[in-house]
Amino acid sequence: MTEVRHDWTKEKISEIYHTPLLDLIYRAATIHRENKDYAEVQISSLISVKTGGCPEDCAYCPQAARYQTGVNVHAILPKEEVVAAAQKAKAGGASRLCMGAAWREVRDNRDFDKVIEMVKAVNELDMEVCCTLGMLNEAQAQRLADAGLYAYNHNLDTSEEDYKRIITTRTYDDRLQTLENVRKAKISVCSGGIIGLGETVEDRISMLRTLSNLPKHPESVPVNALVPVAGTPLAEQPRVSVWDMVRMIATARIVMPRTQVRLSAGRTEMSTVEQALCFMAGASSIFAGEKLLTTPNPSFDEDMAMFELLGLTPRKAFKNGRPNQAEEIKEYLEA
Ligand code: SF4
Repeated sequence: MTEVRHDWTKEKISEIYHTPLLDLIYRAATIHRENKDYAEVQISSLISVKTGGCPEDCAYCPQAARYQTGVNVHAILPKEEVVAAAQKAKAGGASRLCMGAAWREVRDNRDFDKVIEMVKAVNELDMEVCCTLGMLNEAQAQRLADAGLYAYNHNLDTSEEDYKRIITTRTYDDRLQTLENVRKAKISVCSGGIIGLGETVEDRISMLRTLSNLPKHPESVPVNALVPVAGTPLAEQPRVSVWDMVRMIATARIVMPRTQVRLSAGRTEMSTVEQALCFMAGASSIFAGEKLLTTPNPSFDEDMAMFELLGLTPRKAFKNGRPNQAEEIKEYLEA
């Protein structure tokens, strides 16, 4: 097992990021094999339980109310619909369902009560449940934990230095505070970012430094490639190259050796060969299902065909135990 470090400097991460590409992939693949079963890939599926109308101004997001993106705004879904989506995802090989709501923050109201009921219902299907609901306080995190929430997603998106260019309606510190609240409730942390926002390479390195210097590394780090959406301020951003994705994944794998590095948005544009390179570089998780909140994603069938071709197997739910119930996950979180 590789030593888990929390003292990475920007210089050291930059040195890793700029390693000649094949050496970088080789090193990341080696660390992946030393710390994980590289052939086991965790599959998450995402459902938008409340879409659009968000008061925030994230420059990449079609769900922000202030941008004209034609997104199909809907109020909170009925629990039955979420359970049906979870069953479909489970049948497609997913071990985790992530429920997203386009909120600035969680409020203690009836919609939150409904989300709590959804968490309980999906948990009963023996699936890991994740939520991404915006900012939340300690008491709300504890309520989600008590309902059986496994993970909470709250991305840093970009570096602290670059944050104001992408989002002005909240601060980086707000973001980090929510991650701390999630940690305190012993919920596993999912936090990563997006490349292709017009950030510099230094911003990517700075974001990885923040993530890898947290008191505990996030259990999941999604690496997203921007999918530019018409009507958002970033609509004209050029697509990032697959080499940038590979470098980002490999560097994340090296600095956070035990984390699930998730190949997330942007997979639709990648060939199987390109995705295989990402797995080689240390990706150990994907999002599956036809949609990622509001943007297209490969289907479960396409993914299963790719898994078969590459010799990958879907990871089973709760391999580290259930949060608040199993000793193993406590040990993992404390490692
Ligand atoms: S990313 Fe989330 S917080 Fe930002 S505008 Fe979209 S839904 Fe709102």
